[in-house]
Amino acid sequence: MKKTIALIAHDGKKAEMVGFVKDHIDYLKNANLVATGTTGSYVKQTGLDVELKLSGPKGGDAQIAALAAEGKVDGIIFFRDPLGKHAHEPDIQMLLRICDLYNVPLATNPATGSLIIEGLLAE
Ligand code: PGA
Repeated sequence: MKKTIALIAHDGKKAEMVGFVKDHIDYLKNANLVATGTTGSYVKQTGLDVELKLSGPKGGDAQIAALAAEGKVDGIIFFRDPLGKHAHEPDIQMLLRICDLYNVPLATNPATGSLIIEGLLAE
């Protein structure tokens, strides 16, 4: 069955996310992709189909957390900006907690992201 991968990147990490997606496009084209709104619209520029949720600060992180709690996502790539301050910090912490509660693979940097993608999407 096709795996579902969620993509989230804070503003300072969006360019890195687009580069990451391009580097892994041969894997990611075989997955269902879901993303927070702004991240998803950037990722769409790579030509991949992406289901867009709300923007992170407007509840998108919470929507991805709900998918994780419901068992509807196989892995999450979440490039946080370690130098930024975020109004939706409680939602970010909630997403991390839900991933730990439900044992959902979660990457917060490209090195771990590559491992998750190769682990989940290698043929
Ligand atoms: P965005 O949300 O993709 O809509 O910018 C990401 C976030 O800030 O959590």
